[in-house]
Amino acid sequence: MRTQVGIIGSGPSGLLLARLLHLQGIDTVILESHSRDYVLGRIRAGVIEQGMADLLREAKAGERMDKEGLIHEGINIAFDDRLERIDFPKHTDGKVVMVYGQTEITYDLMKAHIDEAGGKVYYDTPVIGVEGYDTDSPKIIYEQNGQRQELVCDFVAGCDGYHGVSRKSIPADKISLFERTYPFGWLGILSDVPPVNEELIYANHPRGFALCSMRSHTRSRYYVQCELDDKVENWTDDAFWDELRRRLPPRVADSMKTGPRLEMSIAPLRSFVAEPMRFGRLFLAGDSAHIVPPTGAKGLNLAASDIYYLSRAFIAYYKEKRTDLLDRYSETALRRVWKAIRFSWWYTSLMHKFDDDMMTSRLQIAELDYLVNSDAALTTLSENYVGLPYEKFE
Ligand SMILES: Cc1cc2nc3c(=O)[nH]c(=O)nc-3n(C[C@H](O)[C@H](O)[C@H](O)COP(=O)(O)OP(=O)(O)OC[C@H]3O[C@@H](n4cnc5c(N)ncnc54)[C@H](O)[C@@H]3O)c2cc1C
Repeated sequence: MRTQVGIIGSGPSGLLLARLLHLQGIDTVILESHSRDYVLGRIRAGVIEQGMADLLREAKAGERMDKEGLIHEGINIAFDDRLERIDFPKHTDGKVVMVYGQTEITYDLMKAHIDEAGGKVYYDTPVIGVEGYDTDSPKIIYEQNGQRQELVCDFVAGCDGYHGVSRKSIPADKISLFERTYPFGWLGILSDVPPVNEELIYANHPRGFALCSMRSHTRSRYYVQCELDDKVENWTDDAFWDELRRRLPPRVADSMKTGPRLEMSIAPLRSFVAEPMRFGRLFLAGDSAHIVPPTGAKGLNLAASDIYYLSRAFIAYYKEKRTDLLDRYSETALRRVWKAIRFSWWYTSLMHKFDDDMMTSRLQIAELDYLVNSDAALTTLSENYVGLPYEKFE
């Protein structure tokens, strides 16, 4: 096979890139190791920045999001027996976020790109590696029905997540990796019960962090901080709800509706960046290049900002024969990535319990008290949470 842009992975990064390029008449092929149903079944992110919502509209895949997504104008932080609201529009010139599940976004992109536009996406087709990324016609080597095949491309987009092969196709001496792991994980439940609050509640509690989030008016997503080696099998639904209630202010806990799990999982927390994000004609985007702990709701949004920069760079190349945006992709994307890495690390450090270190916990409470009483600190949190602006190109 031959294509202009070969894309590895059909997560949000790969699908959004394919869709934006297709609308500009640029040919793409996506190769995905799992089945379409498996990709759709993964329960992940849910808070969308304005920049990503606009990109989905540009991709003509935002109609259902605009109908069903929930606009959130703030978040709540519980600490030291207090519950404080942070008003985003007040601190960001009117900006808000949208709550709309990653599974819904993936579904909308698949429908638009595959079912309606006939985009070429091959499922159950694992990529083995990328060859010749530093030549004019790189090749993606993949397996289909047990046969080794090649996809020859002008460019390769490595949108294959943290465990993918595109980053691993680069020799170790050409790539720098930065990593921090955190000494805890998040145990999450998805349940068809109405959310306990209209907006998210982040709780800093002596027993550990908790988060009340949602996917819709009838579906809730809740998390509690857990040990890294904890197992889902150790938790009944009742044990989860009891632990969550203990970490919330009593008036919130008392009004919580509980129900059976649709899904329960444990996610480790990690900050990770690979530099650079371009190697000849291979470009990394999304989780293949960086991971953030989910506290700041930035993972999916960073994938979208990478795709914003990468799609513009490919469009400028094919429409205007310009290579300058391709040359600037890594530097531009990484500038935004590192700011989100910093914000996610800061917010994670502020909200979680670190061992039984009382000094850290007192410092956290002092910082939270300062935060909710300082316009400057509230502005800093709000403008990072709603999403820093994308850089514009002439
Ligand atoms: C459990 C969990 C919870 C999360 N919660 C949040 C959250 O609350 N908020 C938030 O903002 N972010 C969250 N994230 C992060 C967010 O989901 C990711 O940032 C987002 O999925 C990145 O999209 P992506 O397309 O870059 O990568 P992915 O979604 O990982 O997609 C990569 C795709 O590549 C495919 N692939 C991998 N290897 C190969 C190969 N060799 N050949 C072909 N295909 C391959 C994979 O099957 C996958 O479909 C969460 C992530 C996880 C894992």
